Amino acid sequence: MKRREFLKTALGGSAGVLCGGGLAEARPNLEPAPEAVGMLFDATLCVGCKACVAKCKEVNGMPPTVLNGEPQWDSAQDLSGETLNVIKIYTEGKGSTKDMVKDGFAFEKRSCMHCVDPGCVSACPCTAMRRDPITGIVTHHPDACIGCRNCMVACPYNVPQFEYNKVFGQIHKCQLCNQAGVERIDKGQMTGCAEACPTGATLFGSRKALLAEAKRRMALKAGDTYSYPRGDVRKPDSMHEKKVPVYQQHIWGETEAGGTNVLHISAIPFDKLDMPPLGSRSAASISEGVQHTLYSYLALPAIALAGLAFAVKKNTDDEGEGDGS
Ligand code: SF4
Ligand code: SF4
Ligand code: SF4
Repeated sequence: MKRREFLKTALGGSAGVLCGGGLAEARPNLEPAPEAVGMLFDATLCVGCKACVAKCKEVNGMPPTVLNGEPQWDSAQDLSGETLNVIKIYTEGKGSTKDMVKDGFAFEKRSCMHCVDPGCVSACPCTAMRRDPITGIVTHHPDACIGCRNCMVACPYNVPQFEYNKVFGQIHKCQLCNQAGVERIDKGQMTGCAEACPTGATLFGSRKALLAEAKRRMALKAGDTYSYPRGDVRKPDSMHEKKVPVYQQHIWGETEAGGTNVLHISAIPFDKLDMPPLGSRSAASISEGVQHTLYSYLALPAIALAGLAFAVKKNTDDEGEGDGS
């Protein structure tokens, strides 16, 4: 038996035992943290001013982006080790009408979604990624990080960024402005990006209140006037009136991959905004369920051995038939 066939047979035998035997069970998705906080990004309110990008850099002590030799605070095109929040642009055709799919344009925020059941936390072998059990904020802790980059692979939104240009590079991502030395949320402040946003396109608050606000907007009639809050949804800095757009009836993050604490709503379908296709199960719930089952039954060595024994037996039988003995 060739080596490749041997491995295929061994793995096939193992998978058969694993699945047929019903050993692999997924755990349920985690529930939102009891006092979960997050943000609501309403793409229809975003004017692309990028005040949030500059403020994020200021709050987090990140350097400016250098473009054509010039340092610029709001010109980052993508997330990186130096940029934790970017505003991307969708355009189609002539790109002339805001929030229209055809010949239109729109803005979309990219930063950590602060998943309810985060893949990065589950994949990190040394608890350098942590989900706060009370607020649900997902933070990275460089003192515990070994730079394995598992979190980068496990994140469905490509959020964690590694500093490849440094000898001792580190992982960076949005910490919802609540990491050591910043702690805006613990001090009762809102996130830097929500504070800087002039239109309320980035709104801070509890996940519960933000979800209720998003649902309220879904139920509005297009063309009516609505008073949009700015700052913290629970105690807005100000309100401003604006005509209601034609929203997609979809609150991104209500259920995707177990839900997120940062929610998005938009007039443009999310697949056109390059959001990943995700079901309602979190990857962490599936992978941790399988691992837990394997380790709790100490099944992994037994399964591997069973697969190998089956392959060896098949090999021996085949050789016997070939000999005519
Ligand atoms: S978006 Fe990515 S980095 Fe942020 S919590 Fe979710 S899995 Fe982790
Ligand atoms: S919450 Fe803070 S770190 Fe995250 S994107 Fe906003 S300003 Fe940046
Ligand atoms: S500050 Fe607000 S309006 Fe300006 S780009 Fe950021 S989210 Fe959009």
